[in-house]
Amino acid sequence: MAPRPTRTPTPPPAPDPAAALDRIAFLLERDQAPTYRVKAFRTASAVVVGLAPDDLRRRVEQRTLGELKGIGPKTADVVEQAYAGRVPGYLADLESRPSPVPTDGAALLAAQRGDCHMHSDWSDGGSPIDAMARTARDLGHEWVVLTDHSPRLTVARGLTAERLRAQLDVVAELAAELAPFRLLTGIECDILDDGSLDQDPDLLARLDVVVASVHSKLRMEEPAMTRRLLAAVRNPRVNVLGHCTGRLIQGKPRPESAFDADAVFAACAESHTAVEINCRPERRDPPSRLLRRALAAGVYFTIDTDAHAPGQLDWQGYGCARAEECDVPADRVITTWPVDRLLAWSSASR
Ligand SMILES: [Zn+2]
Ligand SMILES: [Zn+2]
Repeated sequence: MAPRPTRTPTPPPAPDPAAALDRIAFLLERDQAPTYRVKAFRTASAVVVGLAPDDLRRRVEQRTLGELKGIGPKTADVVEQAYAGRVPGYLADLESRPSPVPTDGAALLAAQRGDCHMHSDWSDGGSPIDAMARTARDLGHEWVVLTDHSPRLTVARGLTAERLRAQLDVVAELAAELAPFRLLTGIECDILDDGSLDQDPDLLARLDVVVASVHSKLRMEEPAMTRRLLAAVRNPRVNVLGHCTGRLIQGKPRPESAFDADAVFAACAESHTAVEINCRPERRDPPSRLLRRALAAGVYFTIDTDAHAPGQLDWQGYGCARAEECDVPADRVITTWPVDRLLAWSSASR
């Protein structure tokens, strides 16, 4: 595979054209821009990377970049300005805006080494695996787990066992390329109505990290939801309980699922299943009240971005701020662990 331009979180003064386009996309994604606004920049970046250097020079000189499919007037301007050695105006404007990600959990954020939850375009993410992994690396992570959806979540193009096996081959190749950074295998597996998991158990056993989440029937009666979550977190193949209440607090709000939180967190502590602190701004799940109860129960946590685009990998500050507010010690947060400790922990219960 041809090397891709680096996507540095802090850009050089005059980024090359593709890096400038990627940086714009990253900032828009971090700032929660809708996908359609970002897509133009990601697409244009891919077009520029595919151009021969001579072709790029000629098109910049003759101002014919706009003739290419995937490049419009705005993205052509960015390419021309970056090519001339200037910081494109559109990028400078974005860089001048303060990041919306909270900074109050700075100490915990600085301790983060990885992220246990991200999606690629194999399921409902917007970018290829390599763009996600390289961005995680460029943000300073030592490892990241790829966790695309499971088969029943058809709206999110959940991976069948066959597609997941194919993905494992792709990840193995890419992981070798990215070493010493560690791209780890995983899944965000649906917890079915009876608490069983939506993927072949042998295949789950092959993965580095299994995140299990509820995405259907979130309004189940409390006793049934408690049984469902207990079965999932006690399953030896599950490492992380994803966004446990399912609430949404931005856009169209969704109430928390009802379940016996103390019973579920006690089971998590007993079975060494971590409770995820989901960083997505619209989720921020679990709420602080439950986060404190999980801490009291003695669970481990992950601070996960659940990123569906590269810029969203920069959202860990949302979870770190909340964890610090609730006095969660860094050592109880698995995403601060070195990769060997993470893998020893995740494989211990299998
Ligand atoms: Zn989810
Ligand atoms: Zn997810």
